[in-house]
Amino acid sequence: ATVVVTGANGFIGQHCVAALLKHGYHVVGTVRTAGKADVVRKTHVSHPNLDVVVVEDITSAQSYLTALSSTCPSAILHLAAPFHYHATDFEQDLMIPAVRGSTAILEAAARMKGVRRVVHTSSFACIYDAAAGPRPDKTYTGRDWSPLTYQDGVQATNAPTAYRASKTAAERAAWGFVEGRKPGFDLVSLCPSMVFGPFLPESKPRRIEEVNTSNLLLWSVISAGQGNAVPPTKGPVWVDVRDVAEAHLRALLVPEAGGGRYLLCRDVYCNQELAEVSRKVASKYADRIPVGEEGRRERHTHYGVDASETERVLGMRWRGLEDCLGELVPQLFEIERNA
Ligand code: NDP
Repeated sequence: ATVVVTGANGFIGQHCVAALLKHGYHVVGTVRTAGKADVVRKTHVSHPNLDVVVVEDITSAQSYLTALSSTCPSAILHLAAPFHYHATDFEQDLMIPAVRGSTAILEAAARMKGVRRVVHTSSFACIYDAAAGPRPDKTYTGRDWSPLTYQDGVQATNAPTAYRASKTAAERAAWGFVEGRKPGFDLVSLCPSMVFGPFLPESKPRRIEEVNTSNLLLWSVISAGQGNAVPPTKGPVWVDVRDVAEAHLRALLVPEAGGGRYLLCRDVYCNQELAEVSRKVASKYADRIPVGEEGRRERHTHYGVDASETERVLGMRWRGLEDCLGELVPQLFEIERNA
């Protein structure tokens, strides 16, 4: 069976492609430049079951139909969407590619025939209410919805809010499309919390500035310097990138997952914990990682999460923090050193 993966070169995309190839799927990855297509091929050592095509404009269904004219996918994983906090024109840089990007791939899927399922990579940003501030009594699940609208994104006063609005509006647009059009496929929405984890070797960024947003957040904590304070915790729920890829695979394999929305989350965390675990698993770099107040935990100061529905339906088990950071932390320091 053939599966299309949009944003195949991205941090999560590369692991999804690897998981699908390992499972025996034929994969067609989409990227926006020929150079990135080469990187994807190298990452998967020119795997015979991998094709990569260029789709320059992810907001155009026709672009997808043209690029995929000779493929007959039975499923699509839609990961391509901006995730960064340096947008200046929020509508142009975030809202349009996210929202129209979601409807364009669904429109293309509806016209392609043979597509049975689309897995939409949403986010914990579509679930939680950032404006509510810390809510120690609240436990978020896949049934919660962020209240942010498209207009909230356009008029946001900061990029993180605009990003969260872009993901929420994109997910609403995806569900709206399926409800309104009743295409020949069903939709699965996956909502990962902050994703940490290693890069595949050939996809390792060359400079720290090129590291994806979620791993960069970890970097800002672990590179603060041994004697300096641990920066305050911001987005305190996390999941390993390899588990996120596994969940994408299972979202294809489990028939009854269709029509569902699944929170991907191992646990809450605090930056003190990230620093301590990083010092332990990458002791070589301990002089760079802040010591902070050893043993101090802010476990329930923000909110709780419950991903048991995901564990039940998709059969997921989650990797722990030591496993996650053991490969990633040395990679990040090497990227800095080799830049
Ligand atoms: P990356 O930035 O590594 O990957 C994003 C992918 O989307 C890349 O392939 C990128 O292409 C593509 N993309 C971004 N903007 C555009 C655009 N305007 N036009 C065409 N392609 C575009 O991020 P992640 O792998 O972390 O994110 C993948 C998905 O997962 C996104 O939908 C993100 O919102 C979601 N997600 C991520 C989380 C995380 O913590 N990492 C948490 C929750 C959800 P290019 O390389 O050319 O820019």
